[in-house]
Amino acid sequence: MSSARTRGLWIDGQVTDAAEGGTFPTFNPATGQPICEVARADAADVERAVEAAGRAGEHWRARSGTERGRILHRAAELMRTHRDELAELEALDGGKPIAETPEADVDSGADCLEYFAGQAASLQGEYQPLDGGFFYTRPEPLGVCAGIGAWNYPLQIACWKTAPALAAGNTMIFKPAELTPLSALRLAELFREAGLPDGVFNVVNGEAETGQALTRHPGIAKVSLTGEAGTGKKIMKDAADTLKTVTLELGGKSPLIIFDDADLDNAVSGALLGNFYTQGEICTNGTRVFVHESIHDDFMERLVQRTRRLKIGDPLDPDTDVGALISQGHLEHVLGYIEKGRAEGARLVFGGERAPVNGCEGGAFVQPTIFTDCTDDMTIVREEIFGPVMSVLRFRDEAEVLERANDTDYGLASGVFTSDLTRAHRMADNLEAGICWINHYNITPIEMPFGGVKQSGLGKENSRRALEFYTRLKSVFVATSDVEAPY
Ligand code: NAD
Repeated sequence: MSSARTRGLWIDGQVTDAAEGGTFPTFNPATGQPICEVARADAADVERAVEAAGRAGEHWRARSGTERGRILHRAAELMRTHRDELAELEALDGGKPIAETPEADVDSGADCLEYFAGQAASLQGEYQPLDGGFFYTRPEPLGVCAGIGAWNYPLQIACWKTAPALAAGNTMIFKPAELTPLSALRLAELFREAGLPDGVFNVVNGEAETGQALTRHPGIAKVSLTGEAGTGKKIMKDAADTLKTVTLELGGKSPLIIFDDADLDNAVSGALLGNFYTQGEICTNGTRVFVHESIHDDFMERLVQRTRRLKIGDPLDPDTDVGALISQGHLEHVLGYIEKGRAEGARLVFGGERAPVNGCEGGAFVQPTIFTDCTDDMTIVREEIFGPVMSVLRFRDEAEVLERANDTDYGLASGVFTSDLTRAHRMADNLEAGICWINHYNITPIEMPFGGVKQSGLGKENSRRALEFYTRLKSVFVATSDVEAPY
């Protein structure tokens, strides 16, 4: 069995070692020190998980939606009971400020379980009378689903994928990102305490190979990934051999557009939230901030003034606003982009350096960074950085900014600050993105569909729509008259 220093896999309601005994370390990004070893699942472990999830599914799908919902509800309550502990775990394993994690990670995960607990009983088909009969449809579970997570919101991602899957009668094998393997294991324990039957939720930690073993497995009906666009393409190719359905929540380079009639303080708040929350490690971030030329200087002054107040520090310190990036490797990646920004002629107005933090000497800290005078062709304006690096661009009129905002392969999110409602809706109509926030940025209520277009993904999470991606529709025709055969 797993030792105290090694966290096992979670298969069929039990902690278990990996079949080959492989492990890998997980690190505290704020110190660079290992937290513990984690069991690494290989193909044999994935096989065990698929068998367990398949067996469990036969009973789970037969329960009423109300019963399934009741268990999800209990799990949400347990998440709230263990709010502080879960928030600390996310801060420890992910480098995220403890000032954020109780709400952004734990509450949002619990909200999701609660929302789909309520939806579980509401899955309905259609009915229509026809000549000589009628038909009805049955939304049926897909079977065993795999969830593959990114490292920026580990617990929330686990909930966003698992809650709709379970509500619809599926079972789940979840693979957290290898950099943040811990919180999904704790979630599994809470599910068990809530009464979830063994095998309905399983956790197999590991790297890309573990993900591949899931994606290629013929016993798995669906894969939902949160990750990079490149990973999404690989997964779609791998899933093609067994014609699995996929939901892909991928990267972005979203525009945030601030018109001259915007409430400037709200717009600055939106830009800060959309670039520096969670150290900028958020897929929907509005990293291309288009500011109308007539308000550019005023906007920059207020922006820099407020950015200066952000405290970079130990993620476990409640006063910290900006924690550690996920790893030293990611820090180098972000610093590389900052260097490119400088080299390609963007004007650095704030940050741009590593940030030393007392007591966290081995940590991956970088200052929130603001460039202005950016142009559309610069690397920092075109590529996803996934760190606290904001690029400000000036614009003159609506048609011009719209064309420039849409000039990207990505299409995850967008934001518009203006007091002209007609213009706001016209922009929402024309922006090529899965989400458009008007006079706000980066809020993701569970009731609202979430997902990208273009190379930012396929499918939706959250809202009732998510259930469509975890069900398949069966049409049942019933004859009420004799069969007229011409033979
Ligand atoms: P990543 O693509 O490197 O990894 C994501 C997950 O996929 C990990 O669990 C990884 O082990 C697994 N994986 C990698 N290669 C695989 C393969 N070939 N087959 C199966 N699984 C594989 O992404 P990351 O670095 O963990 O996260 C950052 C990225 O995630 C950014 O691009 C970010 O925009 C994106 N993201 C998107 C959303 C969204 O909802 N749209 C949310 C958060 C993060």
